This record gives sequence, structure tokens and C-alpha cells, in this order.
Amino acid sequence: MDHVKALKCTICGAEYSPDEVEYVCPKHGDDGTLDVLYDYDLIASRFSKDDLAASKDFTIWRYKPLLPVEPDSPVPPLRVGWTPLYPAPRLAEKLGLKHLWVKDDTGEPTASFKDRASAVAVVKAQEKGAEVITTASTGNAAAALAGLAASVGLPAVIFVPKSAPPAKIAQHLIYGARVMLVDGTYDDAFELTLKVAKEFGWYNRNTAYNPYMTEGKKTAALEICEQLGWEAPDRIFVPVGDGCIIGGIHKGLKDLMALGWIDHMPKIMGVQAAGSDPLVRAWEQGLQGWEMKPVEAHSVADSIVAGLPRDRNKALAAVRETGGAYLRVTDEEILAAIPTVARNTGVFVEPAAAAAYAGLEKAVTEGMVDPDERVVVLLTGSGLKDIASAMKTVPQPPVIEPTLEAVKAAMGA
Ligand SMILES: *Cc1c(COP(=O)(O)O)cnc(C)c1O
Ligand SMILES: [Zn+2]
Repeated sequence: MDHVKALKCTICGAEYSPDEVEYVCPKHGDDGTLDVLYDYDLIASRFSKDDLAASKDFTIWRYKPLLPVEPDSPVPPLRVGWTPLYPAPRLAEKLGLKHLWVKDDTGEPTASFKDRASAVAVVKAQEKGAEVITTASTGNAAAALAGLAASVGLPAVIFVPKSAPPAKIAQHLIYGARVMLVDGTYDDAFELTLKVAKEFGWYNRNTAYNPYMTEGKKTAALEICEQLGWEAPDRIFVPVGDGCIIGGIHKGLKDLMALGWIDHMPKIMGVQAAGSDPLVRAWEQGLQGWEMKPVEAHSVADSIVAGLPRDRNKALAAVRETGGAYLRVTDEEILAAIPTVARNTGVFVEPAAAAAYAGLEKAVTEGMVDPDERVVVLLTGSGLKDIASAMKTVPQPPVIEPTLEAVKAAMGA
């Protein structure tokens, strides 16, 4: 990894070599999230836009020279990344915008954006010779880890709140991970995993504790810019729980600015559920991540429920350094967005992903978005992961006799 210069603490700025520390800044303990610093001159000497144009690798690994892994490290076989960026003209028209795209990560191998990070976690675990990999999760990160670990035969141990949607727990179990349902919140599961991984010497994928998860997630920003012909969008809407995705989007864009591959920094818009909005509050109050206190969090959008967002330092920087904003949307607005997105794009999303679109609606209503701006919304997870929530937004269909008359009667109703 000669292209990685250092790991830099997001609190104190201390820099460490990747051999010196495994996860967090020793001075700041479990909160001392590290940022991976690269040698961009070295990367630019090895890797160009032309190489990408010629690349036949349509996965996140097309960007391997920009990722914190050894060049010759084997990567998992599942096809992660290079997801579609669909133009969304009917949604755009509804909102009075001219240029809108949705980045559709519902078709990832385990049906969420989390595969991008878990793929990197599995490579890092194997580089380190780990025998077991573990994570705490609201559900999707664990599903992604279970699936990616299964693809290479690495044992995985999963800690999720017992309230996680059944489809996600089914994924963990079917992929053969060892699953423990925690009688507590995601925040409780997170703390538990830190202790357990230290005790047993397991490789820990926990978001924001493991510095490499941001790097996996940044690949979506690299893809968006490449898919738009290296003309960066003006605004990107991101659903935010722990803040790793939003920090990753920011990181990918910073990489591209440093390489000179894009010429402006998009404004990053973070969207949280009203019942789980600690980053919105911190942004409104001008707090730093390390000044934030845990809050009690709840929302229908289970994937973005986090009382103390673990990647809060990077998540606040993403919005502050790009002139973006944090927005909150209610559970009603989130649920209503599920059919709106599905009917206008053909993409069926889970509540957390719908929150990003609900945030765009709110930003447009509040006059924050110029109609000429080029806007991207991240659709981070499949609707099939949470059917119970989706079904709250639609009426029950009629049950009919198998006759023409019954159809006519039902059509008339
Ligand atoms: C995890 C997740 C998010 C939020 O990502 P964070 O990094 O926790 O902010 C959004 N949508 C889906 C579907 C997720 O699984
Ligand atoms: Zn520090």
C-alpha cells in the first residue's frame, strides 16, 4: 500500500502509518475515526481516466489503485458496484427540475449500498490473515458482510438489534453467518462488538471504527462522476444514519478533485429521519462531532436509526465543506416517497433510501435547489428488505372470483 500515505485522526489530526494502528487514533480511543490519506501523485502516475475508459472491470475494483488494498490482493467474486445511474425525467418534472438522476444500489449482491464497504472489509480481513470477521449493524451492513464473507468462505459473526426487519435477518442466517440478536439498540450492538472483537481477536468491520469502510463507500461517488462523463453533479442527496455513506461520497469527490478529474465539488445534502436526527441538530447548532451526545432514536427507516452516528466527524465535514445542508424528513414523508420513487423510476426502495428522495422534495419546497442544477439521489437499499413498511403505503388489492363480471365490478369500484 505505498499509495496510502497515512491514517489521520478526524479529531486531533495526528497521522499514523497503516502498519502502526489497526482501527482508531490511540489518543481518542473508539471515537478517534481515522481518514485514509493517499499519495495522489503516485496514484496519478499509475492510473488515468483513459485506463478507466478501457477497463472491462465493471465493479468497484476498477478503482483499485484508489482503494486502500494491496494491488495484488484477491477480491471477492461477487459483482459489487458499477450500479446504474438512471436519468429520472418524470421525477424531475414533478419537482420542477431539469436534470435529475438516481443512483440505483438496490441491485447490489445483497441488495444494499453496504456491499461496497463489506467487499473492502473482506479484502482487508484476508490481507491481515483474520480467521473471523464481525460487525454490528442495523441489518444491511451485516447482510452485506455475511454475503461477501460467504463468497470467500470467511466465517462471519453478526450482532444486530432484535428489532431488525426479518428479511435482513434471513439474509444473515441464509448466508451462514453466526447471528446474535441483541436485546437493545444498534448503539448497544456496536459497543458490544468492539468488546467482543478485542476479546476474540476477530477482524472488526464496524462503521467508522474501521477506517476502510469510507473508502469502499466512496466508490459510488467515483462511479457517478465517471458515468456523467467526469462532469460532476451540482448536488447529491444522501440518506444518513451513521454517516459513513455521506463521508464516503465526500471522500470520493475529494479524491477526484485532488486528481483534477472533476472541476467542482458538488454540494452534499444529508437527509435524516426526524426521529433520528442528531446530525441535523449538530449541523444547526454548529457542534463538532466530538461534542455530540447520544439521543434516543427511532424511525420506520431502520437503516438510518443511529442515536450517536459513529461517523459523525466525517458526516459533518461532508456537508460543511461542500456548502450542502442537513435536512430532516418525517416517517410519513419517507413512506410516501416509496411509491413515488417506484412509480416514476421503476426502482423499489426500502424506507432509508426513500428518505433521500423525501429530502430532495423538501429541499425543492424550501427553495434550496435551483431548477437548472444537476442533481443525484442515492437509492441505497431494496424495497424487498422491508415489505411490511412498503405495504403501509398501498391499499390491499381486491380478492375476486375468477370471472369477467367480477373484474368489471372491481374495475368500476
Ligand atoms: C446504512 C444505510 C444507510 C445509511 O448509511 P450510513 O453510513 O449509516 O449513514 C442508508 N440507506 C441504507 C439502505 C443503508 O443500509
Ligand atoms: Zn486523535
